[in-house]
Amino acid sequence: MNMRWPGIIETYRDFLPVTETTPVVSLQEGATPLVPAPLLAEKIAGNLSLFLKYEGLNPTGSFKDRGMTLAITKAKESGAKAVMCASTGNTSAAAAAYSARAGLQCIVLLPKGAIALGKLAQALIHGAQVIAVDGNFDQALAIAREITAAYPVTLVNSINPFRIEGQKTAAFEICDDLGAAPDFLAIPVGNAGNITAYWKGFQEYKQRGRSTSLPRLLGFQAAGSAPIVEGKIIEHPKTLATAIKIGNPASWKSAETALRESNGQIAKVTDDEIIEAYKLLAAAEGVFAEPASAASVAGVIKLGRAGFFQDIDGNVSVVCVLTGHGLKDPDRAIQCVREPVVVPPSVAAVVNELCLS
Ligand SMILES: *Cc1c(COP(=O)(O)O)cnc(C)c1O
Repeated sequence: MNMRWPGIIETYRDFLPVTETTPVVSLQEGATPLVPAPLLAEKIAGNLSLFLKYEGLNPTGSFKDRGMTLAITKAKESGAKAVMCASTGNTSAAAAAYSARAGLQCIVLLPKGAIALGKLAQALIHGAQVIAVDGNFDQALAIAREITAAYPVTLVNSINPFRIEGQKTAAFEICDDLGAAPDFLAIPVGNAGNITAYWKGFQEYKQRGRSTSLPRLLGFQAAGSAPIVEGKIIEHPKTLATAIKIGNPASWKSAETALRESNGQIAKVTDDEIIEAYKLLAAAEGVFAEPASAASVAGVIKLGRAGFFQDIDGNVSVVCVLTGHGLKDPDRAIQCVREPVVVPPSVAAVVNELCLS
């Protein structure tokens, strides 16, 4: 069989902690499109080249697959029989799918009532043992950490270093596609594993001579859930962007290091700004991403309105990471647009409704 793309482990083997005998567990994740967004760019700043790293097109619909292929591969290699994660939804979807493929038991702790419908469906259909914790994500993660420290179960949250290793490959792909690192990388920040992973990826690619520059990182948190921006733990995080509804990020320190080293910045965007960007992405560029993903675009729009890009001489390239697919959270999409009009089953009624004449 000739695979067009064998997945991130085979493609970037030299950059990852695997050997010839490592039993690779893959769903051919990665190789996601870098979609140019000229219409959106024009609305933001005249000198902007904007690209969308559409991570929703991974096998389970989010970037979590990049980290999970490696985390599950390494769990399998080490002889583990079971894995566990706490999740705002996408981690559990990926853990459940890759565990199914690897023949591992998968246990998932979800904050009760705070998971988008599609993500819950994925964890269940892939056969994970799903437990809803009547608390928030941070509490669920604390429980998962304690249990995996005491029992023979491997933790596959992003504090598992293999998750970060796998996720860094998205930075490689961006450099490969653009022929260089972009000037800026805009990314939603929840538990802060992904921003950490991108920075590691951009740095390693440059060190190995595969790229010549580094981007500045622009991180965005939801306003009701912005511990890094506020500089303090948020006990009761609030936002409709459930994937980034996290009050005490596990990779807080490494995110701050990445922001500092890249001469970047982190800011917050309101739920209204997130929804505006979410709708604009879908309606103006044809790209459907989940609300948390739209935080990166919302942030770039906000910076554009403040004159941030216009103040820079020459053309500026910006990549917005769209972390998960819009179909993960169909309820949200329907809530923020007009529902379809109902007409009698006749040509005349449809024509009348369309004002065609
Ligand atoms: C997990 C996730 C995030 C946040 O990533 P972190 O690594 O936790 O910062 C953002 N968006 C989506 C869709 C996610 O699933």
